[in-house]
Amino acid sequence: MKSTARFLVGGNWKCNGDRESIVRLVADLNSGDVPSDVEVVCAPPFVYLDQVSKALMPPYQVAAQNCWVGKGGAFTGEVSAEMLSDCGVGWVILGHSERRALCGEDSQFVGKKVAYALEQGLRVIACIGETLEQRESGEMFNVLEEQMGAIAENVSDWGPVVIAYEPVWAIGTGVVATPDQAQEVHAYLRKWVTEKVGAGVADSLRILYGGSVNDANCVELAGQEDIDGFLVGGASLKGAAFVKICNAQ
Ligand code: PGA
Repeated sequence: MKSTARFLVGGNWKCNGDRESIVRLVADLNSGDVPSDVEVVCAPPFVYLDQVSKALMPPYQVAAQNCWVGKGGAFTGEVSAEMLSDCGVGWVILGHSERRALCGEDSQFVGKKVAYALEQGLRVIACIGETLEQRESGEMFNVLEEQMGAIAENVSDWGPVVIAYEPVWAIGTGVVATPDQAQEVHAYLRKWVTEKVGAGVADSLRILYGGSVNDANCVELAGQEDIDGFLVGGASLKGAAFVKICNAQ
């Protein structure tokens, strides 16, 4: 049965945009129609969070793309979860594969970040996903279990937590997972949560798919039983396409 959890679409703008292009993107988003039963969260780069928070209209919410693992202090270049809360940013994306691969964040570190962000009252989109090599060598489920385990160990209240399954080979490549491939993993993750955490949490947990989602492939993916929304990179920079994705369900 299709989950009754509220469909959620996240827009991960990554390290893109400038003040001018963001004014245009926000205007396009504000003029689009998003169904009232869909939750939408846009994640601009840190320096534009204030601009976007002020300009984006409800129902859009804002997220940061990362935050520090603990309390602020002598951590040059970092932004703490407290600072995000202080600035009215309610959401944070953690454990994105680009941070895991390019910034050396391992699953334990991501788990600690999740714990700390939750303690500070943030809602968290925690990302997991396998590389092509891991998939092809039959390691995929072990990898996902290790990543999920490190998150689950650090969560007691799952209400503010969303999981994003983003196969690394599908991110920014234009090679989207087939609906069957995505559904297979989402069903596996939900079963994992049922067994390790509990059926109630598994039923209400939103599991997003991410990796080359666009306005042409979103409807079929959204029709899969265990896909409760998307985390969108490239297509979230195009207002009209992103609004279509928000209407995929
Ligand atoms: P993509 O990125 O949609 O550009 O593939 C997704 C993501 O990294 O969240």
